[in-house]
Amino acid sequence: MTTPITTGVAGAFAARAENLTKAYGAGQSRVIALDGVDVAIARNRLTAVMGPSGSGKSTLLHCLAGLDAVSDGRVWLGDVDITALDDKGLTRLRRDRIGFVFQAFNLLPTLTALENITLPADLAGRRLDREWLDAVIDTVGLGDRLSHRPGELSGGQQQRVACARALAGRPDIVFADEPTGNLDSQAGAEVLGLLRRSVDGMGQTVVLVTHDPSAAAYADEVLFLADGRVADRRQRPTADDVLAMMRRLAGRRTCGG
Ligand code: ADP
Ligand code: MG
Repeated sequence: MTTPITTGVAGAFAARAENLTKAYGAGQSRVIALDGVDVAIARNRLTAVMGPSGSGKSTLLHCLAGLDAVSDGRVWLGDVDITALDDKGLTRLRRDRIGFVFQAFNLLPTLTALENITLPADLAGRRLDREWLDAVIDTVGLGDRLSHRPGELSGGQQQRVACARALAGRPDIVFADEPTGNLDSQAGAEVLGLLRRSVDGMGQTVVLVTHDPSAAAYADEVLFLADGRVADRRQRPTADDVLAMMRRLAGRRTCGG
């Protein structure tokens, strides 16, 4: 087995944030969604982000992915300080280096599964690596459904198409925000299984927002957010670990008022 060679601290991390702060609104209606978060997302790992509703999970994802401007602090994708990029640079970075999967599948109904998968590359005028695309299709397990349109696919199959679309461009990092939120548990398990395989078999890096402890158990590391801060983290969590941490954090919040 070979050890990957990394160039300094940044090389080990696909993304990093320092003192990441995000506030919405002003005056009395000001909400601090992220309160000075320091976080590093390891390369070639599946990192889960958990926490109660409103704890800042989606905001963290959006700020790490350059979808939302930060109020303070810095965010790096690899070696690139994305908080220093202009809109054009951010658009290019999102297009070329980041894959997204959302709770809603966001597929175009008139296109086939394969056309949906290749759409971002087609729009960018970029040629996809055929071997990589075949590996992606194999990983998501949709080989016999590629000519179907979304309306002819189950919810789980549609989300697998969305995952394939995110992976097709071989991004530096895939961000998935509650990707199993609209799925039954079996379809959800299939989506989590394929995200896991994209890390283990294809060397991808995935950040998964979820509030499901069994989903977090697919992760190499779980981060817990509470009130816009990283309250806890755990390597190689089991579902029971995650449940215990959730209970502990809930108790702390109740005691703390
Ligand atoms: P989570 O994904 O953990 O449920 P969010 O990141 O969506 O949490 O939200 C964190 C906090 O920021 C919440 O209090 C939420 O109401 C607030 N918030 C999120 N987006 C906006 C917005 N666009 N405008 C105002 N407040 C927002
Ligand atoms: Mg959310």
